[in-house]
Amino acid sequence: MDVRTHTALHVLKGAVQKVLHVEWTAGVWVEGLHGRLVVQTDRNPSQDELEEIQREANEKIQEDQEIEEYTLDRNEAENRWGDSIYDLFPLPEGITTVTVMCIPGWNVNCCREKHTKTTGEIGRITVRKSRFRKNKNLLELSFYIEPY
Ligand SMILES: [Zn+2]
Repeated sequence: MDVRTHTALHVLKGAVQKVLHVEWTAGVWVEGLHGRLVVQTDRNPSQDELEEIQREANEKIQEDQEIEEYTLDRNEAENRWGDSIYDLFPLPEGITTVTVMCIPGWNVNCCREKHTKTTGEIGRITVRKSRFRKNKNLLELSFYIEPY
């Protein structure tokens, strides 16, 4: 998995949260420099909103913010950040230690994948396509990042 593309999912999620006020990620997909983020929402965003999402994501990348990772007790993580760190991906009950990736003020997720050290390493994100699936209340955002 491309570490930069995967990390871009987190930055894009933060932008989607900020612009559309959605909370839950329903799915992710990454292949090479292409990725797709699926979030739960009940409406199709306007073209302006989609452009704002892309702009917000790229501003966060330009800020070159440090990405923090914590491995900690599951209860402690839930007390600190709430169960929104899991999105719609429930963790098996037996798991007592979790790894959390945090872009402070932007996105916090329980995630065991590798991430870049800073948002700046991702490079520019382009939102290529959006698809709203009204019957499922899902919005799919397809994007790619620029090659080095
Ligand atoms: Zn991750």
